[in-house]
Amino acid sequence: MKIKAHWQILLSLVLATLMGLLFRSFGKEPTGATDFVNGVIVTCELIGKLFLNLLKMIIVPLVVSSVIVGITSLHGVKGFGRLLSKTAGFYALTSLLAICLGLVLVNLIQPGLVNGDPNEEIRAAFDQHEASESEKMKVAEAKVSGTEQAGFFEQLSGFFLRMVPTNVVSAAAQNGQMLGLIFFSLLFAITMTRLPLPKIAPLRELFISLNEVMIKLTQGIMALAPIGVYALIVPVVYETGGGLFVSLGKYFFTVLLALGLHMFVVMPLVIRLLAGVNPLDHFRAMRTALLTAFSTASSSATLPVTMRCIQENAGVSKATSSFTLPLGATVNMDGTALYECVAVIFVAQVMGVELLMAAQFMIVISALLTSVGVAGIPSASLVAIMIILTSSNIPGAETAVIALLAVDRLLDMSRTAVNVFGDSCCALVIARSEGERVLETGNAPHM
Ligand code: ASP
Repeated sequence: MKIKAHWQILLSLVLATLMGLLFRSFGKEPTGATDFVNGVIVTCELIGKLFLNLLKMIIVPLVVSSVIVGITSLHGVKGFGRLLSKTAGFYALTSLLAICLGLVLVNLIQPGLVNGDPNEEIRAAFDQHEASESEKMKVAEAKVSGTEQAGFFEQLSGFFLRMVPTNVVSAAAQNGQMLGLIFFSLLFAITMTRLPLPKIAPLRELFISLNEVMIKLTQGIMALAPIGVYALIVPVVYETGGGLFVSLGKYFFTVLLALGLHMFVVMPLVIRLLAGVNPLDHFRAMRTALLTAFSTASSSATLPVTMRCIQENAGVSKATSSFTLPLGATVNMDGTALYECVAVIFVAQVMGVELLMAAQFMIVISALLTSVGVAGIPSASLVAIMIILTSSNIPGAETAVIALLAVDRLLDMSRTAVNVFGDSCCALVIARSEGERVLETGNAPHM
C-alpha cells in the first residue's frame, strides 16, 4: 500500500522526533553510545544538507521557466493586451492585499516572540545550521542596517538595484540574487508577448518543455522529502528537544487566520464591489474546485476542475476563463504570497533580526515577485521562502525552511485553496468587465 506523501512526511517527523529524544536521553557524556549517536547525527546532517542542495539546485530553471510559460501562455489571444493588463492589475492588487494582511497580522500576533523577546526554543532549532563566514558577515550587516534609521533609503535603493541587475547570469549564479532573475524573466516574457507568434514559438516550446521537466524533477525531489525531513529533524531535536513543534503553534495559527480573513472577508468584498455578485453564490459555484485544491495542495492539478466550475457553475465564458485561469494557476498566488510574508517575518522575529519599514517593504515586494515564480505544486513556496530569507540576510534560513516544511501540509492545503479562489475571483471580475452575465439564472451549481 502506498502511503500519501504528506503522511510520509508526518510519519518521518514523528519518528525523527522520537529518535532525537532517545539520543538526547543518552546524555552528552562521552561513552560508546554517544560515539554512535554522534556518528548518526553527522550522517543525518550530511543527508539533510544534500536534500537542501537538491532543492536549491532547481531554483533557477524552475523559476525562470515557470514565469515565462505563465506569461506567454496566452500569446495570440484576441484582445490579449487589454485582457493581460486588466488581469495582471487584478492579480497584483489582490496579492498585495493578501501580503499586507499577512504583514499586519504577523506584526500584531508576533508568533516568533515570547513577551517581546525571540522564542529561544525555536531559535535554538533554527540556529542549528552552521553559518559560513560570509553569511555571518551578512547577518552582522543586516543587524546593523536594521537598527540604523538612516539606512532607510540606502536599503531601499540597494534593493531596487539588486532587483535590476547589471548581469543576469551573475545574478542567477549568486544565491541571494534571485529577485534580479525573476525581474529579468518577467521582462523577457512580456517582451516575448509583443512579438508575432511565429517568431517566438520555438523559444516558447523550449521553455514549456523545460518547465515540464523541472516540475517533474521538483516532484522527484519532493518525493525524497520524508528522508530529508527525517535527516534534518533528528539533529534539531537532539540538540534542542521536542518543544519546537509546540512552539510553532502560534505561527500556524497566524497563517491560518490571515488566510481565512483573505478568503472569507477580503476577496468576497472585492467580488461584491467589482463584479456585483453575491459571494455566497460564488463559493457555492467553486466548492468542488476549492475542495480539490485543499486536498491536492496543487493549483496546477486543480486547474481542470477550476475551469469546469467557473464555466459551468459561474457562467464565465470559455474565452475569459481560458485566459485568466491558466495564467492565474502559475502566476497568481494570493495564499502563497501571504504565507511567504508571514513565514519570513516569523523567522526574522525568531532570529532576533529587527525589520524596520524599509526591510518589511522589501519583503512585501519580494513576496509579490517570488509568488509569481512559484510553481502550482505542493510545498513549492519553500523555494521562494529560501530566496527571500537569503536575500534579506536573515540567518538560519536553511533549518528554518525545513522546520516549516515539517509542519507545512495543512498550511499548504489551505493556501492552495486561497490561491485557486483568487484566480476564480479574477475570472469573475474580468468576465463582468467584459460584459458577460455571470452567476445569474441558468448557472445552477454543478457538482
Ligand atoms: N501548493 C501551492 C499551490 O499549488 C504552492 C505553494 O504555496 O507551495 O498553489
